[in-house]
Amino acid sequence: MKHEIVRVKHELQRRTVTVVRVERLTPHMQRIVLGGDSLEGFASPAADDHVKLFVPTASGVEGRDYTPRFVDSAARTLTLDFALHDAGPATAWARRAAAGQTIEIAGPRGSSLVPPTSTGGCWWAMKRRCRPSAVASKRFRRARPS
Ligand SMILES: Cc1cc2nc3c(=O)[nH]c(=O)nc-3n(C[C@H](O)[C@H](O)[C@H](O)COP(=O)(O)OP(=O)(O)OC[C@H]3O[C@@H](n4cnc5c(N)ncnc54)[C@H](O)[C@@H]3O)c2cc1C
Repeated sequence: MKHEIVRVKHELQRRTVTVVRVERLTPHMQRIVLGGDSLEGFASPAADDHVKLFVPTASGVEGRDYTPRFVDSAARTLTLDFALHDAGPATAWARRAAAGQTIEIAGPRGSSLVPPTSTGGCWWAMKRRCRPSAVASKRFRRARPS
């Protein structure tokens, strides 16, 4: 079966978002819900989209990639799941995050859309990309037709 991926570009916007809620899902996974009016128009149509999170550090700001887990356009929220490992700046930020804090994000820059016409399509796309993140895998599974 032929699987086609449609690539869509998005206007790259930098947005300041506020931590709405922090939830410890497992000892090694922290969910952070970000929100704010700056999320108006934010879209993440593909399971393996990623945004850049700009994390403040002692020497400036560092960017790290994260996959949107959920987007609620009406509520203007974006949920990210952070794997907690030995700290780099983004993980350290996620561990300390608390409601009311702000942070900047940008993206997604583009999306690779897999038509949900077959149960195979999503898995084929994942294999082709070799190293899907755990969050992207969960989104693919959720998007898969039953
Ligand atoms: C497209 C894309 C999407 C991503 N989506 C997500 C996501 O949704 N959720 C998520 O948690 N991560 C995601 N990642 C991975 C995330 O960007 C990295 O884990 C990032 O390096 C964490 O930044 P840091 O500042 O905490 O650590 P860094 O400063 O980058 O690294 C510090 C140390 O931690 C090690 N390290 C980095 N990542 C891991 C890890 N996962 N497990 C164990 N050790 C690690 C590094 O090797 C290094 O030694 C994604 C990466 C990409 C490329």
